[in-house]
Amino acid sequence: ARQAVLAAATGPGATADGHPVPLLANVGGPRDVEGALRHGAEGVGLYRTEFLFLNRTAPPSEEEQVAAYLGVLDAFPGGRVVVRTLDAGADKPLAFLPPPGKEPNPALGQRGLRLFQRYPEIMETQLRALARAAARSSAKLQVMAPMVATRQEAAWYVAACKEAGIASAGVMIEIPSAALRSGDLAAEADFFSIGTNDLAQYTLAADREVGGLGMLHDPWQPALLDLVLAAVNGAAERGRSCGVCGEAAGDPALACVLVGMGVTSLSMAPTALPAVRAALSLHTRERCVLAAQAALAASSPSDARAAARAHLPELA
Ligand code: PEP
Ligand code: MG
Repeated sequence: ARQAVLAAATGPGATADGHPVPLLANVGGPRDVEGALRHGAEGVGLYRTEFLFLNRTAPPSEEEQVAAYLGVLDAFPGGRVVVRTLDAGADKPLAFLPPPGKEPNPALGQRGLRLFQRYPEIMETQLRALARAAARSSAKLQVMAPMVATRQEAAWYVAACKEAGIASAGVMIEIPSAALRSGDLAAEADFFSIGTNDLAQYTLAADREVGGLGMLHDPWQPALLDLVLAAVNGAAERGRSCGVCGEAAGDPALACVLVGMGVTSLSMAPTALPAVRAALSLHTRERCVLAAQAALAASSPSDARAAARAHLPELA
C-alpha cells in the first residue's frame, strides 16, 4: 500500500483499477497557481474570479481581466481551466455598484448570476475578456455560472457565453432546485460542477457564515448526498460531465464516495490533492461504488462516514 501511495504521489488521478478522475485545483487567481502545480493539479476546476472585482471603486478593465485570466490559463498548457464568472453580492458587495438595499437574508438575495441579470454589461465584459484570453492560450477554457436556480437562468447564461465565443459553458449545482431538476439544466449546459458548500447551506437551511450549526454543515449529510446523486444522474442522462468543487471533494473518503456516485472530476484546495490522489489510487472503482451505496443508505452523517469507510480499507 505504501508503494502505491508513493507511485501515485504525482501524476493524473485514477482509481486503483485505472479509472481516470481528473484532480483539479480551486484557485483565486494567478498567485495560487504555483501551489496548485506543486501539489500536482491537472488543471483548475474552480477559479473564483471575485477577488478581481472586490474592494475597488471601478470594475477591472477588459485588458486587466485578460491578463489575470492568462495568468491562470498559461500555467496549465493543454490542461483544463474552469473559470467561474463573478459570484458577488450579498456578503461580497461590489463597491462600484449601487448598494443593493437592505437584504434581510443576503444568501437568498441579489447574488451570483442574479446580479449579472441586473447588470449584464459586467458579465458581457468578463465573458469577452475570457474569450480573448482563451484565444491566446493552449489551455482548454470552460466557463461556469454560480448560483443557478432554474433552467431558464442556465439557458440565458449559456447563450451569453456562446455569444461571446466561449466554447464550453456550464453551471454550478449549488441550489437544491438545480439538483432536483438537473436533467432540465443538463439540456442547456455543457457541464456541471457541484458546489457542496452552498448546496449544504441551502439544503439544510444552515447559513455557512454562522458558526455553531455544527452537524448541519457536515458534507456527509444524507440529504446532501441525495442531491449530489440527483445532479450526477441528471448530467449522465444527457452525457454531460459532473464534477465537484466544494469542500467535500477534498475529504479522501468522501472523494471516493463521490467517484462511486459517478462524479467525473474533483476540484479542491491544492493542499488536499495529495491525500485524495492517494485514496483513489488505493481503491478500485467498484469499491468506490460500494462505499457510495453504503453512504447513501445511511441516515446520519456519522453513519454515512462509517459505512463508507468500511468499504475503503486502505484509508488511514
Ligand atoms: C460552493 O459553494 O461549494 C463553492 C465551491 O463555491 P464557493 O465556496 O465559492 O461559494
Ligand atoms: Mg458557492
